[in-house]
Amino acid sequence: MINLKVELGDNSYPIFIGEKIFDKLSETLSLYDFSKKIVLVTDSDIYKIYGDLIERGFAGFVELLDIIVVPSGEKSKSFAGVDQIISRMLELQCDRNVAVIAFGGGVVGDLAGFAAAIYKRGVNYIQVPTTLLAQVDSSVGGKTGINHALGKNLIGSFHQPKLVWSDLDFLNSLPEKEIRSGLGEIIKYGVIWDEKLFSFLEENINSVFELDMDSIAYLVKRSCEIKAEVVAQDEREFGLRMILNFGHTIGHGIEAEMGYKILSHGEAVLVGMLAESKIALEMELLSQIEFERIANLISIFNLKKKLKINPDSVLEFMQSDKKALEGKLRFALPTQIGKVEVFDNVSNDQVRRSINYVIKH
Ligand code: ADP
Ligand code: ZN
Repeated sequence: MINLKVELGDNSYPIFIGEKIFDKLSETLSLYDFSKKIVLVTDSDIYKIYGDLIERGFAGFVELLDIIVVPSGEKSKSFAGVDQIISRMLELQCDRNVAVIAFGGGVVGDLAGFAAAIYKRGVNYIQVPTTLLAQVDSSVGGKTGINHALGKNLIGSFHQPKLVWSDLDFLNSLPEKEIRSGLGEIIKYGVIWDEKLFSFLEENINSVFELDMDSIAYLVKRSCEIKAEVVAQDEREFGLRMILNFGHTIGHGIEAEMGYKILSHGEAVLVGMLAESKIALEMELLSQIEFERIANLISIFNLKKKLKINPDSVLEFMQSDKKALEGKLRFALPTQIGKVEVFDNVSNDQVRRSINYVIKH
């Protein structure tokens, strides 16, 4: 089992990564000062596959395991979803030592984490991420939240988990689309931080698609290390954490323009990274050779045929994104593979040109 640590002073926590490790979680939890009441939140699709495993995993270790199943899908990241969890916890008379377990992908992690952040002003929660995206990204860093009719993730809180328990075996039941989505974020870590990770992906992408577990273990571990390092330096996104937005400034605009359909989050980030790398090339921040390495890796995902977007409306969505600061868009742009810097002097024309580029390439 791989064991990493997110260094955040009093809020530090471990990340455990391994294959078929879920049955050891309850033993580890018994070392913590949590009450013997556990509230586990998951979604309906995951519950169908892993309901029995969950029940077995806690048998004998807890006095009460309450499993809250929310409908699978982004719609559960809502006030109604929070109400469902919190009302149940109140009914169960959970005290402040309760442990909330988020067993699922990004949706469950964000929702259960947010409920834990606000229940009685904050209680313990544990991330058990079951998607590749959640294992490499959303389970680490303490961002929790829900959506609003006016936009995604507009309501939330920073609330760090007590531990993250990543069982790679869960990825075997994940639809391929979700694997591709997670890979989008992993490629991002390569570009912003680690050339070695990037070249590993270039050389091994086929075995990664086939879920070769040694490769996947390396990717999850390295991604978590990078995210942990960035978050440790900038827990609340005042500075460095902005580099994690590479590919997201345009990617979010594309997702919104497409109504969050057809492309998954990670796929939109892949397209966003290609567009933003093109901007970096045009601004002479990035060499042609390095640009082509990025473009070639992204082209393996064959996303062009799914892209039905209008550059002007993507730009409009970008400008209304919550990250636009006083009307100015900020971009984390690669200056070489393994390094990005933040710029706020990218013109709207450059953005439009780069979106036109990705539509055609
Ligand atoms: P993400 O982690 O990408 O933010 P979600 O939390 O929405 O995404 O999960 C994506 C979909 O995958 C959901 O329908 C969820 O029920 C399903 N899912 C999550 N984990 C697994 C798994 N290990 N096996 C099969 N399906 C899963
Ligand atoms: Zn992302």
